[in-house]
Amino acid sequence: MSKFHTHFLLPFAVPERHAGLPGRLREIQKFERMSEQQQREVQQQRLSRILEHSYRTVPYYRKQFDAADFHPSHGRVDQPLPLPILTRDDLRQRTEELLSNSYKQADLRTSATGGTTSTPVRFCRDLEGLRNKTALQLQLNSWAGYEAGDSVMTLWGAHRDLLMAPSWRWRLYEEVLMRCVSAPSGFINEEILERFRQRYEKHRPKVLYAYTNVLVAFASYLKKHGLQHRPKVLIVTAELLSEPSRKLIESVFDVPVFNHYGSRDVGMISSECSYHTGLHFHPWGCYVEFDRIGDTPDGPAYRLLVTDLLNYGQPFIRYDTGDCVTLNNRDCSCGRWFPQVGQILGRVADGLELADGGIVPGVSVGNHMSQMGQTFRAISQVQFVQKSHEHLHLRYVVKDEHPSAREELKSICSAIDSLANHPFNWTLEKVANIPRERSGKIRLCMSELHTPDSSLAKPLQSQNLREGITCSSFVDLPS
Ligand SMILES: [Zn+2]
Repeated sequence: MSKFHTHFLLPFAVPERHAGLPGRLREIQKFERMSEQQQREVQQQRLSRILEHSYRTVPYYRKQFDAADFHPSHGRVDQPLPLPILTRDDLRQRTEELLSNSYKQADLRTSATGGTTSTPVRFCRDLEGLRNKTALQLQLNSWAGYEAGDSVMTLWGAHRDLLMAPSWRWRLYEEVLMRCVSAPSGFINEEILERFRQRYEKHRPKVLYAYTNVLVAFASYLKKHGLQHRPKVLIVTAELLSEPSRKLIESVFDVPVFNHYGSRDVGMISSECSYHTGLHFHPWGCYVEFDRIGDTPDGPAYRLLVTDLLNYGQPFIRYDTGDCVTLNNRDCSCGRWFPQVGQILGRVADGLELADGGIVPGVSVGNHMSQMGQTFRAISQVQFVQKSHEHLHLRYVVKDEHPSAREELKSICSAIDSLANHPFNWTLEKVANIPRERSGKIRLCMSELHTPDSSLAKPLQSQNLREGITCSSFVDLPS
């Protein structure tokens, strides 16, 4: 890591985020050099510490712990915490109760969860927590070879992350300190990809940091139009990285791609190592639990629950990220024991509701579509809109005008009917593209059955039939 950046420039220029950065990085790096047993002990201490703090200073947890007859010292990192799950609705409804009373409002920083509603849920972090999260993200970047101060181009989609009229301070931070060039990608077409190409060749970044699907589109474009410069580091995040996508990206740029996982709520907490066998969840920053909810063709699917070990301002204990994952139980050749996720499958809550109360999870729909998508020649994208329990509206994009389009649409409808064990009334609509939302994400399933705040209206899945892509939740901008 460039010591000039981490030890001097960043802490001095942006103390809000980076004060004490050298010490924080030293602590994480020291942790990473420890033996497995020492790391587990440190994680245990950190878990006990946040549980004890939560019990002592957060009214909500005091009640929950007492009701469950749970004492903070009972929490063990090798077994599920016997406590209720914290949901986004809890954050919405119990904002005050969830704040630690050991912080003044001025010491907390407000952020908002990702979400598809127009009113994302707000939550707080203490300043130390924010700085530790930033340090952890820098450390995870370094696993991929991205060091603070390296030139980077971000292909980013989230509307709110890309300030329309950035202040001079922000521009100083982004462009001069972080050597970061942004390429807004809320909507992409050939013209925009050409602009990206020109920026890319002009700035010749060492690092490309992108939404998975945007990098796939960019790689496809460069494959057709050629590229001069080759980056040294590729990092994708926020959306599932399928094998075909990985192969395409790596063949075009000729470097391995690193997948990262994080969310606005808990920060960047997971990264692939250089063996690329799955996502390692960093035990210095979080304690994760996997709550089995069903099966997929790739094995059991689990709800991802995160206990945040860094945010003391508004502790998250057993927080339901809303994401569903498969596990990778093989030992990784890198030697890290850190919990390893094979795939992030997308939102648990996303899915189709049936009149009898049954739900077809979005995971199943997504997997089914991925498998079918490999054989499609005409249809490139779909989106299901549930109008009523009986009525599904299918939006689709035709990539190539091919006679098989009608047959492909029919097979999609009957596949969903058989998955749901329930024939829907279908309406079909051909669209030019399936737009990303303001958040930058595409949804596979949308429900009009509920108000936007209902639990089923949280979904964040996208599907690209050719690539078999399912997207997960939000991530913070690389910093
Ligand atoms: Zn590894």
